[in-house]
Amino acid sequence: MLSIRELKKKLSEKKISVSELFDEFYKKAKDSQLNSFNYLIDPEKNKHLINESQLRYNNKKEELLDGIPLGIKDLFCTKGIPTTASSKILENFIPQYESFVTASLLNDGAIFLGKNNCDEFAMGSSNETSFFGPVINPWKDSNKTNENLVPGGSSGGSASAVAEGICVASIGTDTGGSIRQPASLCGVVGLKPTFGSCSRWGVVAFASSLDQAGPITNSVEDAAFILNSISGYDKNDSTSSDHKRDNYLENIDKKFDNKITVGIPSDYLKDVNSDIAEQIDLAKKHLAKLNINVIDVEFTTTEYALSTYYILAPAEASSNLARYDGIRYGYRAQGETLDDIYINTRTEGFGEEVTRRILIGTYVLSAGYYDAYYRKAQKVRRLIKEDFQRIYRDVDFILTPTAPNEAFKVGEKLDPITMYMNDIFTVPTSLAGLPAISIPSGLSKNNLPLGIQLIGNYFQEQSLIQLASLLEKELKFND
Ligand code: GLN
Repeated sequence: MLSIRELKKKLSEKKISVSELFDEFYKKAKDSQLNSFNYLIDPEKNKHLINESQLRYNNKKEELLDGIPLGIKDLFCTKGIPTTASSKILENFIPQYESFVTASLLNDGAIFLGKNNCDEFAMGSSNETSFFGPVINPWKDSNKTNENLVPGGSSGGSASAVAEGICVASIGTDTGGSIRQPASLCGVVGLKPTFGSCSRWGVVAFASSLDQAGPITNSVEDAAFILNSISGYDKNDSTSSDHKRDNYLENIDKKFDNKITVGIPSDYLKDVNSDIAEQIDLAKKHLAKLNINVIDVEFTTTEYALSTYYILAPAEASSNLARYDGIRYGYRAQGETLDDIYINTRTEGFGEEVTRRILIGTYVLSAGYYDAYYRKAQKVRRLIKEDFQRIYRDVDFILTPTAPNEAFKVGEKLDPITMYMNDIFTVPTSLAGLPAISIPSGLSKNNLPLGIQLIGNYFQEQSLIQLASLLEKELKFND
């Protein structure tokens, strides 16, 4: 797979035209059997973008992502192009406006192939909750069954498509791990920026205090290219931060000038299997080679993170999803009375997992239980944030596994709690709002990819990317 930098070089040296490059990917995406796209955009619709991009190359005035074919998670509003959140309730929804993130990419010359499949409303860890059916991971358990494996979720279509090589990169969203966990299960890179870095304007809302957009790519450098495009202040998102953004490509090939310390939380490693433990040992070894200091650290709040997340995220979801009433847009069921229309629409329009979250969320927000669950969870969330800041007094970065397991079989984890456990290492970072990146580190005994997660402090994406890139070169996963 060529990197964005290499593709841009080929385009500017006229070794390939923008339209040839696009056609090549479009054909692969069309022929793919893995269900990673809900919708492919008719190439006719992209023609003017392809022509404009070619013209800029001809005039040597190309933009950051000119002519680069991308996939977009089907959670971003794309003007005039179906946006379904992989839900029946939005099956026929065509947005009238462009999300901030996709508008930024278009401004920088990127061309969209289509909309990537995902878990319904981004709720899930295996892409099996999608109304449009599961996505298949391009990796196979070569030692064993050859059965279909999940790509992880919720941005499973994005990760599968990048791993299969049918788009150069894809944009996902991460609420509790949905960029990082699928990246880990598919052997690609996934970056969740600091909360507030990338505007949520035009992103179908799941949990507004957690949702963040970010890249899923083949390399850390590609992630930096994309982040340079999509990160920025937006007045349309009240949680958008006006913190200064760096050029994330700037230090990507440099070593650190000063001594860096990475902390590895021993509490994260207590019950991990030998495959996962091996990845951490491997990473440790390479960090030492890079002359980076590694120390053990210990959180006191990790065991509370998952339950905190699974109170707060459903609470926010139940409120955000109240807008799907069948009246203003989306699917509408028949009914005798207005109440019947609401009830039938929501009963028929939402899948099982989304319904479960709405019920949990409504329950924890109800007058009788608000203090016991929602308020308590908010307090624990603050303690989790403080726990991270305590650790950051001693270290510059934190290293953990991304997920507790390799890709599992489609249909294997049927009960919700087992599924929720997949987020155990990604959720604490989400609750704290910190930036984190998953990079592929090696293969399991079944020859399946595994990832490691690097976590930075707020708005430290530049040095986080620098470290991830150094480690990536040491690990040589793609060589
Ligand atoms: N798997 C987690 C959930 O189901 C995280 C999803 C996400 O990050 N969007 O909530």
